[in-house]
Amino acid sequence: MTDPIHIVGGGLAGSEAAWQIVQGGGHVVLHEMRPHRATEAHQSDGLAELVCSNSFRSDDANGNAVGLLHQEMRRMGSLIMRAADAHQVPAGGALAVDRDGFSQAVTAALEAHPNVRIVREEVAGLPPEEWGSTILATGPLTSPALAEAVAALTGKESLAFFDAIAPIIHRDSIDMSKAWFQSRYDKAGPGGTGADYLNCPMDRAQYDAFIAALIAGEKTSFKEWEATTPYFDGCLPIEVMAERGPETLRHGPMKPVGLTNPHDPTVKPCAIVQLRQDNALGTLFNMVGFQTKLRHAEQVRIFRTIPGLENAEFARLGGLHRNTYLDSPRLLDATLRLRVRPGLRFAGQITGCEGYVESAAVGLMAGRYALAETRGESLAPLPPTTALGALIAHITGGHIEAGIEAEANAPRSFQPMNVNFGLFPPLDRMPRNETGRRLRGPEKAALKKRALTDRARADLAVWLGGNETPLRAAE
Ligand SMILES: Cc1cc2nc3c(=O)[nH]c(=O)nc-3n(C[C@H](O)[C@H](O)[C@H](O)COP(=O)(O)OP(=O)(O)OC[C@H]3O[C@@H](n4cnc5c(N)ncnc54)[C@H](O)[C@@H]3O)c2cc1C
Repeated sequence: MTDPIHIVGGGLAGSEAAWQIVQGGGHVVLHEMRPHRATEAHQSDGLAELVCSNSFRSDDANGNAVGLLHQEMRRMGSLIMRAADAHQVPAGGALAVDRDGFSQAVTAALEAHPNVRIVREEVAGLPPEEWGSTILATGPLTSPALAEAVAALTGKESLAFFDAIAPIIHRDSIDMSKAWFQSRYDKAGPGGTGADYLNCPMDRAQYDAFIAALIAGEKTSFKEWEATTPYFDGCLPIEVMAERGPETLRHGPMKPVGLTNPHDPTVKPCAIVQLRQDNALGTLFNMVGFQTKLRHAEQVRIFRTIPGLENAEFARLGGLHRNTYLDSPRLLDATLRLRVRPGLRFAGQITGCEGYVESAAVGLMAGRYALAETRGESLAPLPPTTALGALIAHITGGHIEAGIEAEANAPRSFQPMNVNFGLFPPLDRMPRNETGRRLRGPEKAALKKRALTDRARADLAVWLGGNETPLRAAE
């Protein structure tokens, strides 16, 4: 038997890394601290628990970078995508999952695999050198003892900021004489019907009163170190968005476009609150984009002013959480190894990628790199024209060349990153339509995305060498 690769953290990234290694014939010891030690957000002892939304976002592989990432992961035999596909719930154009079924499927697959040993323990300091090749995938809520040890080794401070949990409501407490089912623009998407979201309309007076209540509502107080921590723009609390201007929410999560109120089709709502199915049974719905730091009692009071939610019963209220991630462009090499201690590799959100899918995807490559290395082989980096290649190139150096040159005392500019087309190298030439004329607006954007995703698919096929799951089993 080959020496096992140790993985610390059985979340999205650690689970995927473990799967990739054992699919290639390697052995894994997976250290997960739950249930002995909790994080601020996890609620179960399952592997790959989704701590907030149940959405893997768009599944459109031709027009959306995260949809393309889904496709790439499927082609590389991803366990996370296999479990997500098996446990999807209707969500319009998005891939959303039943969180319990999803986590149970990942846990069962790893527990059943003969090459995986799962150890339920906190790794409360740097992993010992004798473990050899080790992947740290402890996520945004890395336990303090390990985070401190990593910070002491790297000499760099981890940056903390907030993500936020959106409330979840019992479906049968929603007043359907005011709310209605419809996906924006009736888009069906994977596993959807075109009528997957619950919509609650607001007129101008209700919206203005709601905005005022959000701003005035009592918030949770911050600890001293939290008060100076910037919010991540993709995950702003709803009351912070309201403070940015009275119209901000109408142009964000509460935008009233692509939806028609069947209870009164002649009146166009001023704003619409959307709720997305949260479990396979369809008994729970989460409030899309409603992450918040309002006090729990205030959330109940204010959210019950939303038409249709007057009697809402909350299965879970919103909250705020710490996030820990490395200054990866300075600290990691192109194969995700810590430059100052190459036996340690990082994966998942702690590398500065952002999101469930991205975390799992970085875990996928960390597992493959680690396996190749322990066999004395070298694995060619993914082409940067692929979604995963572009993301890893960004977090391991693409982002910050200017910052590195600006050197030591320059303020740190690296921020967590979702996969997006802005990370992809530009096309050699802009696509044209069949008439050959210059394109503009949405038509141009759509053709460009199609060309980028076609290029990614072709380049990934070359990298895979014709083998859609190219890990070879142990001889
Ligand atoms: C509150 C919150 C909400 C989020 N909401 C979303 C969202 O809605 N959508 C989205 O796409 N992304 C969201 N994210 C971001 C991110 O996608 C998730 O955190 C994701 O789970 C990251 O995957 P990961 O594998 O890196 O970490 P995790 O999934 O958190 O896995 C890390 C694992 O390591 C374990 N661990 C930690 N320290 C140790 C230790 N010392 N020893 C052993 N085990 C340890 C933990 O128990 C955990 O199981 C959210 C993050 C937070 C914090």
